[in-house]
Amino acid sequence: MLKASTASSPTTVAVIGAGASGMMAALQAARHGAAVTLFERNAAVGRKLLVTGAGRCNISNDRAAASAYTCADARWMETLLGRFGVQDLIAVLAEIGIPVYKTADGWYYPLSDSAHTVVNAFSSALTLADVQLRASAAVSAIRKTSQGFAVRYVVEGREEEQAYQKVIVSAGGMALPALGSRGELFPVLEGLGHTLLPKRPALAPLLIDLRSLKPLQGVRLDVGVALWDGPRYLATTAGNLIFTQWGLNGPAVMDLSHHVSARPSAVLELSMNFLAFVQPEFDRLLARARDTEMPISVFLGAFFPPKAVTTFLRNAGLPSGIALRQVEDSVLQRLTETLRDTRLRVHGVRGFEYCQVTAGGIPVSEVDPETMESRLVKGLFLTGETLDVVGPCGGYNLQYAFSSGAVAGRAAAGSLEHPSGSETSDRRPSKSIHAHGRPKS
Ligand SMILES: Cc1cc2nc3c(=O)[nH]c(=O)nc-3n(C[C@H](O)[C@H](O)[C@H](O)COP(=O)(O)OP(=O)(O)OC[C@H]3O[C@@H](n4cnc5c(N)ncnc54)[C@H](O)[C@@H]3O)c2cc1C
Repeated sequence: MLKASTASSPTTVAVIGAGASGMMAALQAARHGAAVTLFERNAAVGRKLLVTGAGRCNISNDRAAASAYTCADARWMETLLGRFGVQDLIAVLAEIGIPVYKTADGWYYPLSDSAHTVVNAFSSALTLADVQLRASAAVSAIRKTSQGFAVRYVVEGREEEQAYQKVIVSAGGMALPALGSRGELFPVLEGLGHTLLPKRPALAPLLIDLRSLKPLQGVRLDVGVALWDGPRYLATTAGNLIFTQWGLNGPAVMDLSHHVSARPSAVLELSMNFLAFVQPEFDRLLARARDTEMPISVFLGAFFPPKAVTTFLRNAGLPSGIALRQVEDSVLQRLTETLRDTRLRVHGVRGFEYCQVTAGGIPVSEVDPETMESRLVKGLFLTGETLDVVGPCGGYNLQYAFSSGAVAGRAAAGSLEHPSGSETSDRRPSKSIHAHGRPKS
């Protein structure tokens, strides 16, 4: 016979998944009086967090507003970030021992530049808050009972079941499944009445035949990119990309990848503008050097690495030693146009093993953003990648994971206060220690 706690005892809360959103949810729930058990299939907490930001953990972004996210309901996101936004996160992080700094372009990192220190700090805060960690315990079923929920899990090969009044599902999506999130709780959530949208890789590398740009494999460039479905423009981004053996990787294209995975049978084209970040300087130098003996390779070398210069010139049929004044106007114009709009056919995205985030899952319309409680199952809360929300590269996804976790934890514990401990929203000034604009190595 399963027993949940009585009304006078602390609310019993099971948090499933000790990733970014689950750790924050467990911490907030415990700090607000709940008796919290945190289930994690891995032997330790925060396994995926360790690999974020290439081990540096890009933890948030100054521009993490609703408009930055791909979410079916912008007001839903606005409400959530209003409940727990960037400054709220920075305050909580500082308080548990994670001061942060901000790069010139608004990306937040821990001052330590180490994801390990972030995981250590969370682990210690969870212990201090009396969260009971059930590591190496994979939850297989959640059943609604008259007093709450029965959570079934497998630990050391044995199946066990425990009763809780509230359950927070923070089990992630399907991205990088080797680190623990494999999506097996999606059918369980469906069984509880939720809708399941098709799950797709997001923030994924693009599969592209590089054709004449194949020699650029290994080269990194800052470019503007736009995605086209035939004549229909879909989206644009700008940033760093890297040419690889199967196509393109890097923030510039990863930020477009959810559009690609949503259209598996479309004929998509990527337009690359190699001049996006250098156009004024390019125009100025060209005006100055057009009628001079400056070799065209020297001119292009002012903006691109040698491998790119060689490839661009070979594709244009120009010898690298030719002086700028000897290049015909029409040839120079064609080269410039190509640099501004090189088109490549997109064949798809790499799979969940190579992506950073999952698109799809449970629709946000089925969760109340004031509390992260399911609108269909009372006492059930959903956070993080379990829901259909995708942010771009740059700390947006961790901000969303922490925001949803904080709101859910606080609400599951039964508190109506603001999740950061204040009644005010994200717009109040931060009390955290953060060194804005520390120069990056
Ligand atoms: C390589 C990589 C780099 C990234 N870098 C960044 C970055 O720098 N900045 C950024 O903002 N975002 C980054 N992201 C995205 C970010 O990591 C995710 O958006 C975020 O971790 C999602 O948090 P979550 O809590 O929803 O899920 P997860 O972090 O995936 O956590 C889910 C947890 O639940 C556990 N779990 C799953 N199923 C069960 C079960 N049945 N029983 C028990 N436990 C279970 C998993 O083991 C896991 O620990 C990166 C992602 C990857 C893959």
